[in-house]
Amino acid sequence: MSDIAIDARPAAQAPFDLKALRAEFPILAREVHGKPLVYLDNAATSQTPSRVIDALSDYYARYNANIHRGLHTLADEATAAFEGTRARVQAFLNAEDSRQIVFTRGTTEAINLVAQSWGRQNLGPGDEVLISMLEHHSNIVPWQLLASDLGFVIKVIPVDERGALDLRAYRELLSERTKLVAVNHVSNALGTINPVKELSRLAHQQGALILVDGAQAAPHQAIDVQDLDADFYAFSGHKVYGPTGVGALYGKRALLDAMPPWQGGGEMIRTVSFEPSGTTFAETPHKFEAGTPAIAEVIALGEALAWVDGVGVEAIGQWESVLLEHATRQVCAIDGLKVIGTAPHKAGVLSFVVEGAHAQDIGLLIDQLGVAIRTGHHCAQPLLHHFGVEATCRASFAAYNTLEEVDTFVAALHRVIKMVR
Ligand code: PMP
Repeated sequence: MSDIAIDARPAAQAPFDLKALRAEFPILAREVHGKPLVYLDNAATSQTPSRVIDALSDYYARYNANIHRGLHTLADEATAAFEGTRARVQAFLNAEDSRQIVFTRGTTEAINLVAQSWGRQNLGPGDEVLISMLEHHSNIVPWQLLASDLGFVIKVIPVDERGALDLRAYRELLSERTKLVAVNHVSNALGTINPVKELSRLAHQQGALILVDGAQAAPHQAIDVQDLDADFYAFSGHKVYGPTGVGALYGKRALLDAMPPWQGGGEMIRTVSFEPSGTTFAETPHKFEAGTPAIAEVIALGEALAWVDGVGVEAIGQWESVLLEHATRQVCAIDGLKVIGTAPHKAGVLSFVVEGAHAQDIGLLIDQLGVAIRTGHHCAQPLLHHFGVEATCRASFAAYNTLEEVDTFVAALHRVIKMVR
């Protein structure tokens, strides 16, 4: 690898103690194929610090109990910790009230909840739902499933050649038929940051609601649902240094109150009778949380958000921008490599294709050198088709990544490309 010239380092340093921060993540100490792990698949799932892992085991070791209905100490403690996360999520999103936070399995389930509950009640023939070309399948397929039942139309906001939303086209697509705009805040495939506040303002001008898929934004920037004037906002725990299987949906109070339950079972009822009309439902948000939730994961999500708050989400985003710039500058110098997604506002995602080399081969071979990147369609097939590719390689950054890791990745990429060409 000595034949590879590495660019001079940018002067920037992490705005936190990077060495100490890395030490909080046990997994970063492991090796893969005899090489130190360089984990650059953070847009798929970020790693978890010890305090999150400890929160999970502490729950099972000390106060494992079902929540809300128990009268014993363990149940009280579990309920308090569980509801404590709801307050933490409220603060994280700057929601007005913790009752606006519904726990879900993640972003996907949160979007399906809105589709099945709000959508079934409010959409029908003649209506339109606007999504964008940048959407993850999670924000496409729930609407398609519903559209085939209810007969509304889905329209797609296009992107320009850099992967930024075409705002002129958006304005033209909006009409009195538009009932909902469902867009991501940050694209997982390209890293594009969407101007959600402006999208929201324009949607509301037309009397439409806006649902924001914040799966990729929550780990990288401060979220203020009131400032964005988002009607619904969704994110996943496992992308914000938390556990899998948990996430949250924010909704405006009046909307949530007017929406029917979407799943039935325990926890979401007030009274149940064999006469269907005799069954009544719990208040928001509990009416949307049927069954025993992922208690340990919700509690650990609270710990993850506390960790993010401690480091500062803005500092994290700032550092990821340094890493992204350092990586982009170097990979752009590689012969035949093309970056897909060069929007002016981007989060820490670097998607690229290499002439004469399959993304899959690059992914497999670079893994042999200890570097974890993602290859494939990133659950955004329509977007990749738009750019004329089936798959890209994607490196995505998190708080704990270092400039040295970026250099290792670039050197490994050079080596792998030489092997496959
Ligand atoms: N939307 C975006 C933009 C994503 O990146 C992802 C995860 N890759 C999702 C939605 C789905 O998240 P989850 O699988 O956690 O539900």
